[in-house]
Amino acid sequence: MKTYKALMIILDGCGDRKIPSLAGRTPLEVARTPNLDSLAEKGMCGLMYVIAPGIPPGSDTAHLALFGYDPYETYTGRGAFEALGANIELSPHDVAFRANFATVDENWKIIDRRAGRTLTDEEGRELAEAVNSELKKVFGDKVFLVHTVEHRGVLVIRGPGVSRHVSNTDPHEIGVRVEKCVPLDDSPEAKRTAEIVNKFTEISYKVLKDHPVNKRRVKEGKLPANIVLVRGAGTLPRIEPIGKVYGLKAACIAGVALIKGVAKAVGMDVYTAPGLRGTAQDTYDAAFDLARELLFEKGYDLVVLHVKGTDAASHDFNPELKIKVIEEVDKALGKFLEKVDLSQLYIVVTADHATPCMIGDHRGDPVPLLFYGPDIVPDSAKRFCERECAEKGALKGLRGRDLIPMIANYINKCKKFGE
Ligand code: ZN
Ligand code: ZN
Repeated sequence: MKTYKALMIILDGCGDRKIPSLAGRTPLEVARTPNLDSLAEKGMCGLMYVIAPGIPPGSDTAHLALFGYDPYETYTGRGAFEALGANIELSPHDVAFRANFATVDENWKIIDRRAGRTLTDEEGRELAEAVNSELKKVFGDKVFLVHTVEHRGVLVIRGPGVSRHVSNTDPHEIGVRVEKCVPLDDSPEAKRTAEIVNKFTEISYKVLKDHPVNKRRVKEGKLPANIVLVRGAGTLPRIEPIGKVYGLKAACIAGVALIKGVAKAVGMDVYTAPGLRGTAQDTYDAAFDLARELLFEKGYDLVVLHVKGTDAASHDFNPELKIKVIEEVDKALGKFLEKVDLSQLYIVVTADHATPCMIGDHRGDPVPLLFYGPDIVPDSAKRFCERECAEKGALKGLRGRDLIPMIANYINKCKKFGE
């Protein structure tokens, strides 16, 4: 039987709402996207609830769903995915957190949760090292911080004797105080973990507030990265690999640790490409080239290409930048389309959730979905945007979890139900 290849492009946080400065349109409606539109014209479109109507997904639970899993069954906290994505080995007893280098005032009121998004890799590494040398004095090798990209990092607390049932110190809001970590159940493990996290927060501030890197940053007019906030305590999830569940040899190309971690957790091979760092300034040509190579030379059935820039721009309330990111992806997609045999390939484009630029955070709106393939009967949608997907799209009532089975179905890698 003829089989096909599939490329899934996930534009993180791409879904949006009416924006007054765009005359009530969305960034996808305003962006010039001739290549996405040509796929929309030849394929089927629609709106899809990634988890369920009105549930604002995190990028982790959303990607579990888009990779074909029930997030309510498989999710064990964000931190473990961050650790996996940063190539940190975890044992089942360890707890990991997503960490942010952030800016606070002397009363620990949040000025910027991402230290202005201007932290360089070198600065991040240097600051993490400084925090670690102090942590080592208190906790030995049991507690350490790893810097990943920009303001992002991972805090690991080695077990046994620790628990993921503790609260965040990151209040997810500016102008309020850093939160105290508290246990979320009555176990001694949760109590101990919360104490370690609070000690960690103190140490991070003590080490970072007058660190030379921050003194230099202030001189340069940048915000100091003077504290480390944590959230999303997690332990290693137990997930049956995608190859076993869906019979797909799958790879994921991503720049951010969280997405790499989710992909790894479901058994995908994880790649990154030059230019792909998980920022709104990313470039995509090399990523699309790698996707082509993995699909047509390395024997993968499915490649997922993750674009973070759309979400990053939305969190910064910047629709113009979001439009630019969408247009950059479209240009790179155009070059890719010229190089591949479209009679061999299915292409799915969607978002993991909406991140409306007016809100600056995730929302549970349905997201646009595009399903292109050589054998697909097209609907009348001719543009990849919220309005056209809703009005003219044929795909209705889908959830994120349905995509992988649909892809397996179209590329003839599915298992029959019954005889
Ligand atoms: Zn996301
Ligand atoms: Zn986001």
